[in-house]
Amino acid sequence: MKYELPQLPYAYDALEPYIDAKTMEIHHTKHHQTYVNKLNEALAQVPEIADKPLEALLRTIDEVPESIRMAVRNHGGGHLNHSFFWTIMGPGSGAAPDEKSKIMEAIVAAFGGFPKFQTEFAKAAASVFGSGWAWLVLDEHGKLAVVTTPNLDSPLMHQQKPILGLDVWEHAYYLKYQNKRPDYIDAWWSVVDWKAVGAHFEKP
Ligand code: MN
Repeated sequence: MKYELPQLPYAYDALEPYIDAKTMEIHHTKHHQTYVNKLNEALAQVPEIADKPLEALLRTIDEVPESIRMAVRNHGGGHLNHSFFWTIMGPGSGAAPDEKSKIMEAIVAAFGGFPKFQTEFAKAAASVFGSGWAWLVLDEHGKLAVVTTPNLDSPLMHQQKPILGLDVWEHAYYLKYQNKRPDYIDAWWSVVDWKAVGAHFEKP
């Protein structure tokens, strides 16, 4: 078993009332675990690439043998996206990045202000058709951009570095918010850990 389900850095109920404990537990122990299991099953079929880092496999997804390419794209993307997602949330978070932080300066420079960024990000997240993710990334030119990916696709597949990500699959919100995805998006801002986001941004 190569990949393992990472532990959450907080309890399942730590993001209440914005994200409920039951959703967090199922999302982590069922959905994420399944991506880990299926990624391991796929890589076991092609041992010669199993030692390559997952990030590198996704960046060069077209070079992954066709027999497991879709499995690596979906379950590898699923494992990486969720591992990332857990780290950019936390209890006692929310509001906005520190005024003097590098991430805040970069967001203001790129979007014309923090509220404008939030509006653009929320609009992108709400507009994802079916299942997918909204992201703040550093794009292939090193610029901050809001993008979306379908299903479990990773921004790494497009040579983009994730800075902030939001899972808008129904499994991420349906128990509490049912079909009201915009309400989930609104609530989610209250659990974004901007220190963690800033660390992703500043990490080379
Ligand atoms: Mn998910």
